[in-house]
Amino acid sequence: MSTRNLEYLFRPQSIALIGATDHLHAVGNVVARNLLASGFEGALAGVNPHLPNLGLPVYPDVASVPFVPDLAVICTPAPTVPGLIEELATRGTKAAIVISAGFSGVEGEPLRQRMLEAAGKHLLRIVGPNCLGVLSTPAKLNGSFAHVAAKRGRIAMVTQSGAILTTVLDWATARGIGFSHLVSMGDMSDVDFGDMLDYLASDAETDAIILYIEAVTHARKFMSAARAAARVKPVIAIKSGRHPAAAKAALSHTGALAGSDAVYEAVLRRAGILRVKTLEEVFDALETLGMGYVPHGEKLAILTNGGGAGVLATDALLDLDGTLAELSPATITTLNAAMPLTWSHGDPIDIIGDAPPERYAAALKILLDAPEVDTVLVMNCPTAVASSSDAARAVIDTCAAAHRTVITNWLGALAAEEARALFTAAKIPTYETPDEAVRGFMHMVRYRRAQDTLMQVPAALAEGMHPDRAKAHALIEDALSRGLTWLPPQDVAALFAYYAIPVARSLFAATPKDAAACAKKIGGPVVLKIVSQDIVHKSDVGGVALDLMGSAAVTAAAQAMLDHIAQAAPNARIDGFLVQEMVDRPNATELILGMTEDKTFGPIMLFGRGGTAVEVIADTTLAMPPLNMALAHTVIARTQVAKALRGYRDRKPADMDAVAGALVKLTQLVSDLDDVAEIDINPLLADDTGVIAVDARIRIARAAERTSWRMSISPYPADLEQTAQIDGLGRCFLRPVRPEDAPAFTEFFAHLTPDDIRLRFFSMWHSLPQRQLARLTQID
Ligand code: ADP
Ligand code: MG
Repeated sequence: MSTRNLEYLFRPQSIALIGATDHLHAVGNVVARNLLASGFEGALAGVNPHLPNLGLPVYPDVASVPFVPDLAVICTPAPTVPGLIEELATRGTKAAIVISAGFSGVEGEPLRQRMLEAAGKHLLRIVGPNCLGVLSTPAKLNGSFAHVAAKRGRIAMVTQSGAILTTVLDWATARGIGFSHLVSMGDMSDVDFGDMLDYLASDAETDAIILYIEAVTHARKFMSAARAAARVKPVIAIKSGRHPAAAKAALSHTGALAGSDAVYEAVLRRAGILRVKTLEEVFDALETLGMGYVPHGEKLAILTNGGGAGVLATDALLDLDGTLAELSPATITTLNAAMPLTWSHGDPIDIIGDAPPERYAAALKILLDAPEVDTVLVMNCPTAVASSSDAARAVIDTCAAAHRTVITNWLGALAAEEARALFTAAKIPTYETPDEAVRGFMHMVRYRRAQDTLMQVPAALAEGMHPDRAKAHALIEDALSRGLTWLPPQDVAALFAYYAIPVARSLFAATPKDAAACAKKIGGPVVLKIVSQDIVHKSDVGGVALDLMGSAAVTAAAQAMLDHIAQAAPNARIDGFLVQEMVDRPNATELILGMTEDKTFGPIMLFGRGGTAVEVIADTTLAMPPLNMALAHTVIARTQVAKALRGYRDRKPADMDAVAGALVKLTQLVSDLDDVAEIDINPLLADDTGVIAVDARIRIARAAERTSWRMSISPYPADLEQTAQIDGLGRCFLRPVRPEDAPAFTEFFAHLTPDDIRLRFFSMWHSLPQRQLARLTQID
């Protein structure tokens, strides 16, 4: 729905607990105690006809509560809930946390519907049902049955699993890490991830957001809200694979390679969300986020009293694609003057096992002053000659005066315990192992990198492109009206031509004799391919003959192909042949480019190493449309095949712009043509002279008859997302509130210079009708 009324969830003035009870260990009892213990300052009431004695006023029913509760926490059995919501909403309650379960299945579903109808009439917002509740420390609210209370902090956690909430809360509390809000989402019947992200993005109490996602429901809203949120604060997501990839018949390579987990990976990346795989990684990331650590750049220096530990950390860093700072001659000279002769003279900076606290302090000070260093990882191995705790104190004192960032890893168990407590108290991130330290650092680096991707907003139309959309539509319409599922190869070639995607010259031939004539027209050596709606992989059934020269060779090959396929695929209906120019690029790399549709997120693009072994090599990556050249280059760079494309030995570098260009154009084709359901270009040959597609398949199906839909990164054309400097607010990120506002929004921004936006927006924001127009998120 949006963020409407969510302030009553996070900042209620009054709360009613429905189902408050004195039965120890009952949910209604735990919640009552939590509500009381959290020190909520507003009005608090319990509702229970048995009027238990609980230390808070209890009333027999909602009607008897002497005030209108802003927020209701409901723990009563599911069948009672729709009626309660109706009653509360009518009285003016604005938000409810429904902890009760039992809203799915044959019996539950109707209850869920009735509950939502009752709430919807009055815009009462519901968190849950089937959830653990909500904790909000700024409001001193603990409307949950969590076993520990949250410390006040600036991290928000939104989770689809109550168990994960309590686990993270337990872990964090033990380490003194606090939260602004913890929300257990339960079944997400009303409030979902998109709403939460929208709210938390502009919540002044929250600096970072952690999501535990099992499945995203409203993909458009989620993407739009996630992108807006990730622009202003780190958003970390852990995605569990509770729903395995739907088994789908792999009609294309792309379909086979785009598993649901890979799709989430692409989606979260596009949203600028940092994805972590395990709870430990959430904790690693929390350590840096929780301490307010922000990396200034990617270069890490490693300061240690043990050479081996330094090497372990360096290995971990390089494994994760991180950058070790390279010390400048000036820094080395300064260190030489302050360190014993035997120091390592490079990064990692090994200051030797006997290092006393003073040496730690001196070395750290020099590194913090060095411009080539962005972050210092300080490590300590326990020794008999120097105290680990004193070393920690020296580091803490040195950090106090510095602006650059420091993270720490004190190895060992007993010896390190005190040091770790000191670091935690001083708000310096500290880790137990070199691996964890480096992982925590790299999360922040990846977060920074994600910000760059996020700032890329592809133009509505790829630059310099003038696709002939009318012809493209007509061509697909014609194929659909003939009942075809796969676009005939000659039509694929024509379609690609409209989008300026280079494709090998191809002609269709009905018979072997025709094929010879077509070969003559094309001239030079040709390739002959079988054309059949029933054959997916042509070479598997002898349906590809390469490098044929002359009419006799072509006719003979065509006849042989028919004979062979009659054996290999007796049921395949043969339409004819495709005669193709033989592309002579001996040094080309074979690539795959494709598109498949995810049932939640719509079209997803695929890029990677192509050829017949594509599934075995599995060197592919997915990306969400739309793409521009900059994004396409980052997509390519994620694969191993990118290294081959950059050239090696006598292999010249491929034309990377042409490769990226093909991906951008294909993405454009996908967003223009709703009836294109799946695409496989395999291979696209790439070398220094450019790219050319030699085999491409396009599956078509009427958009109206499919469940899927086209998604751009926001529900609006991408260029509707605006960044503007606004007086009194600073840099802001703007987008229309509702899709139907898009034209007015565009109209408003179309003729404005940045300065105009600055002035006019301010007045617009304060004039009511237009306030509805744009959603604004402060960036700085
Ligand atoms: P399929 O993938 O259905 O088996 P392809 O059309 O991809 O059939 O052909 C198989 C392989 O033959 C390609 O991967 C490519 O290496 C080669 N090939 C196909 N067409 C051409 C062509 N026009 N020029 C050069 N090589 C080609
Ligand atoms: Mg192929």
